[in-house]
Amino acid sequence: MISLYDILEAANGQLYGEPVAQIFTDFCIDPDKAGEGLLYVALRSDRGDTHQYIEEAIKNGASGVICSKPPNCDTDGVSVVFVQDAVDALVAWAHLVLGKLGTKVIGVTGSSGKSVTAAAINRVLSKHHSVHCHIVDYLDGQLSVPLALARLKPEHKYVVLKLGIAQPGEMAEMVQAVQPDVGVITHIGYAHTDTFGEPEQIALEKRILVEYLSPNGVAVLNYDDDLVRAMGKHTRAEVMTIGIDSFGTDLMAFNAVVGLNGTGFDLRYGGERYVGRWVPLPGKYNLYAVLSALAVGLHYDIPVEDSLKTLKELSPLPGRLNPLIGLNNSLLVDDSHTAEPQSALAALDWLDTIKEGHRAIFVMGDMENLGAYSQFGHRQVGQRAAEVADLIITEGTEASLLGRAALDQGMDPSRIRSLHSTQDTIATLKENIELNEKDIVLIKGGPSSRMELVTQSLLMDESDHEQLTRRDFGREAPVIVQHTRANWVEIDTNALASNVAFTREMLDDDVMMMAVVKSDAYGHGAVAVSKTALLNGAEYLGVASINEALELRDAGIDAPILILNHMPVFALRQAIRHNIAIALYDLDMARSYDRAARELHGKLRVHVKVDTGMGRLGVLAEEAISMFRHLKALQNIEIEGIYTHFSSADENLEYTEEQIENFNSVLRPLRASEFEFKYVHAANSAGILGGSNNHFNMVRAGIMLYGLRPSNMLDFPAELKPVMSWKTVVAQVRDLPPGYPIGYGNTYSTSENERIAILPLGYADGFRRSPQTWREVLVHGQRAPVVGRVSMEKCAINVTDISGVSVGDEVVLLGSQGDETITADEVAEWLGTINYEVVTSILPRVPRY
Ligand SMILES: *Cc1c(COP(=O)(O)O)cnc(C)c1O
Repeated sequence: MISLYDILEAANGQLYGEPVAQIFTDFCIDPDKAGEGLLYVALRSDRGDTHQYIEEAIKNGASGVICSKPPNCDTDGVSVVFVQDAVDALVAWAHLVLGKLGTKVIGVTGSSGKSVTAAAINRVLSKHHSVHCHIVDYLDGQLSVPLALARLKPEHKYVVLKLGIAQPGEMAEMVQAVQPDVGVITHIGYAHTDTFGEPEQIALEKRILVEYLSPNGVAVLNYDDDLVRAMGKHTRAEVMTIGIDSFGTDLMAFNAVVGLNGTGFDLRYGGERYVGRWVPLPGKYNLYAVLSALAVGLHYDIPVEDSLKTLKELSPLPGRLNPLIGLNNSLLVDDSHTAEPQSALAALDWLDTIKEGHRAIFVMGDMENLGAYSQFGHRQVGQRAAEVADLIITEGTEASLLGRAALDQGMDPSRIRSLHSTQDTIATLKENIELNEKDIVLIKGGPSSRMELVTQSLLMDESDHEQLTRRDFGREAPVIVQHTRANWVEIDTNALASNVAFTREMLDDDVMMMAVVKSDAYGHGAVAVSKTALLNGAEYLGVASINEALELRDAGIDAPILILNHMPVFALRQAIRHNIAIALYDLDMARSYDRAARELHGKLRVHVKVDTGMGRLGVLAEEAISMFRHLKALQNIEIEGIYTHFSSADENLEYTEEQIENFNSVLRPLRASEFEFKYVHAANSAGILGGSNNHFNMVRAGIMLYGLRPSNMLDFPAELKPVMSWKTVVAQVRDLPPGYPIGYGNTYSTSENERIAILPLGYADGFRRSPQTWREVLVHGQRAPVVGRVSMEKCAINVTDISGVSVGDEVVLLGSQGDETITADEVAEWLGTINYEVVTSILPRVPRY
């Protein structure tokens, strides 16, 4: 319960207008979830600003608003409080309320296992006292504290708080605010090493919790973790150590018996032994939570025996090794809440102990925030997974490293699938694997990989949805979730998967599909696109160079690959060694290839390219027959295919017909003289969309797979959806007087008072400078014009007509925001080019997600 006057008092706040509601049931930071009785908190940080949503929050029924800027909307009927900084205000409120009520605080921190530990402590204390424990699951840091306390009531004697940190300095702020009586530290791992550096740094930050405790308090420390154990020297409070099989601890669990639905153990406390105990939490690792709860209970004079009894009623939390019934009575173990290497290893250890008689399937998404430990961490988990799992499915680029490590460990490649979209992960599990009652599927991943969606799709019983962890952030996400990127490309792998599947549907059954993934898959990322395309109906891959082909082979792709461009003879060794086919269009070159191939004792696969009227790479139709006669003699060349390329399938159907006829005039005599081709192909996207008489037995689909039309002249199916978006954030906003010049060369001057926002991207990212620039971008779902010259790393937009634009707001350069969309076609028109060039000229330094 939140009182308006407590907020005003704690935060030195000011009322804006009349106080209407004076008591609120909860805080609310997502405008979409605002409602009756809630106090909407508008947040502002260098990552963004949610003051823009105040109007909506009020419309949705919020009874109050806390803000640090005057709202520019009607606030009649709601209480509005003005504060300097909303997060500071809320933290001050938490401090005030805890002090007023005299509630004792138990703080839990660590790299993982915080929520389970808090839940166990809550269970033990609740048996004897009135306890408040609301776990804010989706958020770490200072803001999580007041959000967790909103529903605190005067009768609550204790509160159990998860103290997660995302930024240096936060722990000190939090402990000063809540003044914990008890501090529990679970373990120190690699989570957030991107921000903190070494785990040792993280330990220093977390240690603040125990440094702060008073001599009357207690620090509960995990003895088995070196960094945590060492904290015992840094507290004035009593220290209780806990451990598994570690003699010398105050509370020790031993003889653990790990089962599918729980864990059995014996316990030693002082001279006492408690044998044959059990908790319904799977995984030995969870015993740390149990031991912590016993220790906290002891501090408040709750006998071990009592606590052990109540802990039998615990149940797993959503997304933490939570067993659920899956399709065909398989067992899903949903561990999708979050992931870092140690918790993943712990989950695999558990799987190892219970897998006997089952097929163990490990489904893993990317782990986040690991910084320099990312590769190491993913590989470490992969090595262990190779020992434990019968089948590994990875989703995402980082997680694919895990599959590579398993492969290096000697795991059979047929038992590893590396995927790149939720859709493919689900389809693979549902369609290719045929889950049965002997299967245990362990599903894990970092929050952004949203692996709970995979669990959800595999549930036997719909009603179990309630048991899933939720990760659908609202529009406040950018402000509360860390993000450090200046500009980035987002790839919708699910859209890609459906585009490929849709294209497949357009083709006759006996026609194969080559996915053209040259130029890093038209800027979309060649490896992820290739893997996704192969899973959704493509059988062949087309690239532009040996390097592009090798990138795919390196990523473990063994599908056939054709280089559609010139390949120098010196690169032949690699082509043969990696079984890569090349385009052949010249007899002299064919002879050199043949000679080189003979020296290597290999055979080179080629597709002969016939120029039927494009005037580019190829052997002329009239010379083709004679060339083939000579090719026959070359023993080390295997002619696998023949193809041609259309020059104007998008605009000149008659000419295309001529090209087809030309091609046929080459094919006919060749077939008569018993040349057989495994692959005969001609059509690109325009050809595919233009008709089916040119499909032969393979097509080469490029641009349409990326959801872009090859030409305005052809009907483009609405089912094909753009795959790429390009985004950035506002770096600065300023009000400039009339006549103020902007950018190099002063090519633009403000004509009146204008509000100008600076964006952190420029031509060195591929945001074109000349001869023409992008004309508009999207901010707050509205169009803002680009003004002045684009610099190497910066550019400016005019946001005078868009209210409330502030630093950190998302800006869309390509793609959709709200109801507005900027398409690659539109940008192409601005730049005087085609959509192909728009997507391929975003430079490689821009990260793809
Ligand atoms: C790029 C390319 C394609 C794909 O063309 P789209 O218009 O993108 O479908 C097909 N064939 C060859 C030879 C190409 O170079």
